[in-house]
Order: sequence, then C-alpha cells, then structure tokens
Amino acid sequence: MLDKILGGLFGVAIGDALGATTEFMSQKEIEAEHGIVKDIIGGGCWDVQPGETTDDTAMTIAVAKGIITNFEDPIEDIGRQFLLWKNTNPIDIGITIRVVFKHFEGNWFEAAKRAHDILDGRSAGNGSLMRCLPVALAYYEIYKMEQISVAQSKMTHFDDLASEACIIYNRIAHRLLRNDDLKTSILAEIKNTRYEKISSLKPDCPADGFVVNSMKWALYWLLNYVSFEEVVIGATNIGGDSDTIAAIAGGLKGLEVGYNNLPNHYKNKILDKEQLADLANQLFEIRERETNA
Ligand SMILES: [Mg+2]
Repeated sequence: MLDKILGGLFGVAIGDALGATTEFMSQKEIEAEHGIVKDIIGGGCWDVQPGETTDDTAMTIAVAKGIITNFEDPIEDIGRQFLLWKNTNPIDIGITIRVVFKHFEGNWFEAAKRAHDILDGRSAGNGSLMRCLPVALAYYEIYKMEQISVAQSKMTHFDDLASEACIIYNRIAHRLLRNDDLKTSILAEIKNTRYEKISSLKPDCPADGFVVNSMKWALYWLLNYVSFEEVVIGATNIGGDSDTIAAIAGGLKGLEVGYNNLPNHYKNKILDKEQLADLANQLFEIRERETNA
C-alpha cells in the first residue's frame, strides 16, 4: 500500500517535471526544439530547474497537507495550504485559481462562484483534477472519498465538469488501491459517462486546460500505453497543457505500478522528493488507521 501511495504522488511530480519543459508548446515546436523529450531536463516557458515541479505538484502537496491536518473536515486546512503556497509567489498559477485567490474573502465556495461569473462561466479548468489524488490515497471509505473529492474541487472550480472528473479519477485510484487492474478500473468507471468513448484513436480535442479535454487525453495515454515512461513521455510530447496532463496520467499510472517500479532516473531528479516521501508516509498511516478503525 505504501509503495502504491508513494508511486501515485511521485507519478504526479514526475509528469509535472517532465511536462514543464513542453507546456504551451505545439507538437511541431517540440519536435523542432527537442526531437522527443524523454528525460527531466527543465527549461520550458517557466525556465524550471531539472526536477523542479510546478503548480500541479504544489497544489497536490497542499491537498495532502490539509487532509493530514484535519482528516474529518479538511477543506479549510486545504485552503490555508493554498494561501501559504500563493504567498510563495509561485511561477505559475492557473487562471481559475488566480481569480479565486483575488476574490477570496473567507469563503472558498463563494470565491469560486464569483470566479465562475467573472470568467463568464468558464470555471471548468483542470486545476482541481490535477491535485485531487491525495483524497483517494487517504480516504478508504468511498462515500467520504467522493464527498471530499467534490468539495476540494468546488472550493475553486464552480463547474460540475471539474468535480465530475475528480470523482471519476479518484474512483479509478480507489480501485487501484484495491489492486484492480488499471485498464479494467478505467473502463468500469467511464462507463455511461462523457468519457465512455475513449479509444485507441487520439482524442478529437486539443490537449488544453479544459478539464474534459485534459481528462480525455490522460485516459487516452493510460488506456493505450503500457509502461509508466510511455504514458508520461506521450503526454509530454503533445504539448499544450502537457505538465498537467502528464501529472494527471502519471498519478494513476504511478499508483498502478508502485514507487519501486518507477524509473530511478526520474525519481532521483525530483527536487521535492523528501517532502513527497514524507507526505506519502503520513497518508499511508492515516489510511491504515482508518481502515483498521
Ligand atoms: Mg503546471
């Protein structure tokens, strides 16, 4: 179980660190500049260090810390962690979350609704999906797991499309933690949803920050590629919102294969590796405690 939890968190961070090199680039631009990006080399639009991660990992860490602080009712603590992160002047904050921060006056859900209105109803970004995995890692009980998955989404992303994607994603993660097979888990959870038609054909939508498109691309890589490397390299080299899509896909794939099976040359590069390992241990302890309660 600990190996899976570690694999999930490192899967997010590795996808983020790899994809940071190609974020906002087109496939053609990536080919011209890099050929194919297979290693964590840094650079990109944020000029990151090799192994440096971005908002995807930072907000995943924030969600994990909030849950660790207050397992029963983590939303306020998750919010406190978001604000601590914001105060570090991060290199990248997604549009929806930036507007929410600007209008936050003590109630996250009200700020999310205001942001939704200010953005003319476009609050279905992928920013709550990219950070939601710690909820599935900590909460064994599926009803509670779904409830917190939705709440951590709604506190910044008013649109139901965002919370719907978080539920499907974390239900897949929940199955992986029971040792179910990844493809079987995905196919079971996307049945009768808008994601049902994901096939061996590349999704007919841009690999951008709209949560439905990001989810379609992440599921496409997960359903059609076998190894962890293939999944995160695939997502990285399409460009667009590549760091987030690689993080979303990398989280589930890392959970499936486990930390010990993640490539060393990726794991060792992650600058935040001690913090991620510490958080994985704490989430594991919480899960064990709750499972045995
Ligand atoms: Mg990012």
